Formats: sequence, C-alpha cells, structure tokens
Amino acid sequence: MANERYSRNEALFGAEGQRRIAATKVAAIGLGGLGSHLAQQFAYLGVCDYGIVDFDVVTVSSMNRLVGAVDADVTAATKKIVVAERTIKAIKPDATVAALDAKVGAPEVEAVIAGADVVFGCLDRDLPRLQLTELCARYAKPFFDLASDTGGEGEEIWYGGRVVFCDGWRCLVCLDLLDQQEIARDSMSPEQREAHDRIYGIERGALAGTGPMVVSVNGAVASIAVTEFMAYVTGLREPAAQLTYRGDLQAIRRSVDEPEPGCYFCTGIWGSALG
Ligand SMILES: [Zn+2]
Repeated sequence: MANERYSRNEALFGAEGQRRIAATKVAAIGLGGLGSHLAQQFAYLGVCDYGIVDFDVVTVSSMNRLVGAVDADVTAATKKIVVAERTIKAIKPDATVAALDAKVGAPEVEAVIAGADVVFGCLDRDLPRLQLTELCARYAKPFFDLASDTGGEGEEIWYGGRVVFCDGWRCLVCLDLLDQQEIARDSMSPEQREAHDRIYGIERGALAGTGPMVVSVNGAVASIAVTEFMAYVTGLREPAAQLTYRGDLQAIRRSVDEPEPGCYFCTGIWGSALG
C-alpha cells in the first residue's frame, strides 16, 4: 500500500513527482529551530535519503522550538542530530539517515555536500553560511539558505525570516545578504576579537543566541523552504530566488533583487565545477 501513503501528495504533483522526491538525497546543515522542522516535513513528504550535520545538544532554552525534542533530552543533553534522526525514523522507518556530529568548517562535511542532491542551510551565523556557500559552489549543489530574523525594540519590533535559493546564478554573496563585519569578527582569534571589541565596541548583532526565536515563526520559514523544494524537485514550478516572511506585517514578499554580476562564488567556483 506504498501509494496510499502518498496518495494526497500525488494528488498535487503526481506519482512521478513523488518518485522524484524519494530519489532526491537531501543534506540539512543545522538541526535547531529551523532544521528540526525540515527533518519532520521531509519525512512526511517522502524523502528517503538524508545527510544531517549539527554539533549542538538540546538545552532547556531550546525547548520552546526544537521539533521532536522531549523533556528528557535536556537532562540527557541529547545531540540535535539524534533528535532529528529519531523524528525522521519514527515517521519513516525505512529512511536512510547519515548523521554527522560536526561544525560546517569540519573536513567531513565536504563529503555530505558532495553526496547530496539538494542542500539546506539552517545556520545562526554568517561565517558558516559563507563556508556552506563555498562548499555548495564547489560541488555545484542547489542550496536553500534559511534564516529567521528579528530586530527593533518595543512597538518597532519585527520578526520573520527568509529563504534564498542559490543555484549558481545567484548566492548569498552576490545578493549581498551576508554581514561582512560579523564574518570578519567571527573569523578572528579570541585575542584579536578582544582587541577589536575594545576599540570598536560590540555590535548588538555580534552576540549570538540572544534575540527572540519562536516555534511558529521558524515553522513558517521552514514550510516556505520545503514548499519551494517540493515545487523544484517535482517540477511544479521554478523555486523563488528569495522569499521573505514578515510575521509582524502578516506578509510573504518575493524579492526581485538582482545579483551583482561577476560573482566569484557563482561564476568562478560554481562555473568551474560545471567545467
Ligand atoms: Zn554568487
């Protein structure tokens, strides 16, 4: 009764679409507030083959948003990759999950990207985003970058996120979506950073993990990404280059920003990967 399981999927994108989803190997880098939603939705969608990467453990402060995490995971300090694999296997026991306990910069991550058909980045910082952009370009892998974002204070507070599809025509660099100051500071040694902060002070955005993060906002961003992936893989339509969700404005906006021409990552690295 394999077809019955996905009959409602196939009602939208056909048996061939379902077959394509089953044949697509996904890599998800970062299994926290955004990535945990992806793991769950991919499993329901019918993805069979997963490479997942994260180095972090479940903490009490992540229990407001980490899909699949249970209270006992806090005391056990369960790895987020373990939670994700458990979620996937509970929904889809025949799934293949290769889980890697590592940061983006670790050499083992390269094989995960090289072996994937489509890559998803769910990262908090722009330095690993840049590293992942470079890796995906090197192996010419379509790459969805997810970010949830907030800003402002008091009545001016805003919250939402964005999904960007990098495909060799555009990427986070040529769309100017990376905070170069944050990347520079995160690239410094502890001593350099201390000296830098003494001179320039610490910008609000430089400190990770302090802003608001809510399960439903992350879920909206992750759902947008999975819908774009579904449209892309099944051939329903082309994925959007960049979709921005603003919970405070009750809106999803499609960006029409054009990439800067002559991007080193798109034209240079991705271009030479294609030969
Ligand atoms: Zn680019």
